[in-house]
Amino acid sequence: MTFVESLAEKAALDLSRSKSVVALTGAGISVESGIPPFRGKGGVWEKIDPAYAHIDTFHNDPEKVWEVLLKGLKDLVDRARPNPAHEGLARLETLGVLQTVITQNVDGLHQMAGSTDVIEFHGSFAWHKCMDCGSRCPNSELDLNRLPPRCRCGGIFRPELVFFGEMIPSHHLMRSEQIASECDIMLVVGTSAIVQPAALMPVIAKNAGATVIEINKEPTPLTGTISSYSIMGKAGEVISDIVAELELIMKPQ
Ligand code: NAD
Ligand code: ZN
Repeated sequence: MTFVESLAEKAALDLSRSKSVVALTGAGISVESGIPPFRGKGGVWEKIDPAYAHIDTFHNDPEKVWEVLLKGLKDLVDRARPNPAHEGLARLETLGVLQTVITQNVDGLHQMAGSTDVIEFHGSFAWHKCMDCGSRCPNSELDLNRLPPRCRCGGIFRPELVFFGEMIPSHHLMRSEQIASECDIMLVVGTSAIVQPAALMPVIAKNAGATVIEINKEPTPLTGTISSYSIMGKAGEVISDIVAELELIMKPQ
């Protein structure tokens, strides 16, 4: 019989016995990298009307959406670096424990930390696309001296992320649903679990028999319902603890 002293140790034990692990991450995992979440204390919606994230608003007034929302997001994404939570998930991949990260984030920090199989469920801020000719521009080369940023052809650039009111790219949705239904553990990290259809992934995993381990600073609609257990705390600290416990378990005796 194994005595488990902490939830981090329990999670490490569960991970060590699993065959197929996926992580679903949300804005909370990047908070310790300096990017605020949308909801909750210190969230973007405390200062900015969520209507600015709707595709209709962007089409009606792209200059305003770039000015109010996207310019600030670009500044944050340009400066952000992975934190111990992103690094911990990348380490789990190196250890052969975690296969895929499904992220709702658009900041590219999982890839920067070394995760190699990342499904960007809501697209990415790494590239921008001209709405007239379809040319693409990397985020690092986007000129924001005049808003909205424009392509050589005169068309307006939009980030390759999914605005409210837009569809999730079907290949991302289908692959995520497939992986969720086949995993035996889903780590759900730093998501308020209210943005659909991303919030369905833990439900799919649970219904297919997986253990759902939630890591969040606060309870969510998954807590005590879909989550098998929840570890309350900052993602960077909790994931570092889990990785440390797992490395002890996996260390050759
Ligand atoms: P959310 O903003 O709705 O919720 C954030 C969640 O993270 C909350 O449950 C909060 O309790 C938790 N949290 C905050 N700090 C934490 C920490 N240090 N450790 C662990 N948990 C923490 O985020 P969401 O569920 O991802 O949905 C918002 C949408 O906004 C997503 O679709 C995403 O695309 C987008 N978004 C992305 C970024 C980014 O790319 N970094 C930032 C903001 C919003
Ligand atoms: Zn163009």
